[in-house]
Amino acid sequence: MEQSDQESSLKDAVVRTELVCRGCQYNLYGLAASGKCPECGLDISETIIHTIDPAASRLPNIANPRAVGNGLLWLLVSLAIATLFLIARPVALRLDALDKTGVRDYSAFAPKYLPFAAGIVILFGLFAAVRFIPKNGNKNDGAIRKDIRVLMTGMIGLSIFCFVSSGLQLIPVTNWIISLTHIALMVCAIIILLGLKGILRAVGQRSREYRTARGGRQGIRAMIGAMLAAITGELVRLVAERLGSFPTIEIMAMVATWMSVLMLLIGLIYLVVNGWWIRKALCKPPPKISMILSSRDDWDARN
Ligand SMILES: [Zn+2]
Repeated sequence: MEQSDQESSLKDAVVRTELVCRGCQYNLYGLAASGKCPECGLDISETIIHTIDPAASRLPNIANPRAVGNGLLWLLVSLAIATLFLIARPVALRLDALDKTGVRDYSAFAPKYLPFAAGIVILFGLFAAVRFIPKNGNKNDGAIRKDIRVLMTGMIGLSIFCFVSSGLQLIPVTNWIISLTHIALMVCAIIILLGLKGILRAVGQRSREYRTARGGRQGIRAMIGAMLAAITGELVRLVAERLGSFPTIEIMAMVATWMSVLMLLIGLIYLVVNGWWIRKALCKPPPKISMILSSRDDWDARN
C-alpha cells in the first residue's frame, strides 16, 4: 500500500503498535483504525490523529532537530540567567538604600562582577544560536536566517554593554552614563526579542504543546512592550532628576522601570518552559502514521 493512500484513509488500516486510547487509556493494538474504542467509544481515528500530530508532520524536515532543540533551550536559559545577573546588584543596592539604619547589606550577595558574568553567559548563549542556522539549504530558510542574524546582533550588543557596565563600576562616572548604559542594554534586549519572535514562531510550530498553549505560552510582544516601558521610565526619571523639582515623578518612573524589568524576567522564565516543550518535540518527534498503522492485508499476512 502506498504511503499517500494510507494517509488519505484509515478505512482498511489496523493499529499495529501499543497505542493507548486518548479517552480511557485502553490499548488499541490490533483494532481497525476506523472503529471506536471498545471501552469508552471514542473514535480510534481521534487517538491516531492526536498521536501523529499532522500539523507538525506537514512541516519541512530540520536536518539537525536535536541540535536546534538543545540550542534553543540553552539560548533561553542563558538569556534568563544573564538578566538575573544584570538586575541582581541594582536591586540589592536599591533595597540597601531603602534601609535608613544602614544595617541591611543585600548587595553583599550580589557581587560587582555579576554584569561581567552576564556578558560571559550571553557569549555562551550566542554559541547556542549558531546551532539554529538551517543546514539543508531550504528556500524557505531566508526568513529564519534573518531572524537569527537579528538575534545574534542583539546578543553581541548585549554582551558588549554587559562588559561596559562592569567596567564602569571600576571608575568614577556620573549617573547619566550609568543610566545610558542601562538603556543601551534594554535596546539590545529588544533586538534580541525581535529575533527570538520569528525563531519561536518558526520552530514552535513543531510542538503541539507550544502551538496550542494559551496561558502558558509567553508572548514576545508583551516583553518588547515591557522593555519599551522600562526605557521610557528610565528616560523620564533622568529628566526629572536633572530638573530636580519632581521627586514624585522620579519615584514613579523608577517604579515603572523596575516593574517592567521584573515582567521581562518573568517572561524569560516562561520562555524557558516554552523552550523545554519545543526541545521535547524536536528531540522526540511524533511518530509517522506508517509506524502506527498497518494495512489490513499486511496485518492478515503477518498474523
Ligand atoms: Zn477509550
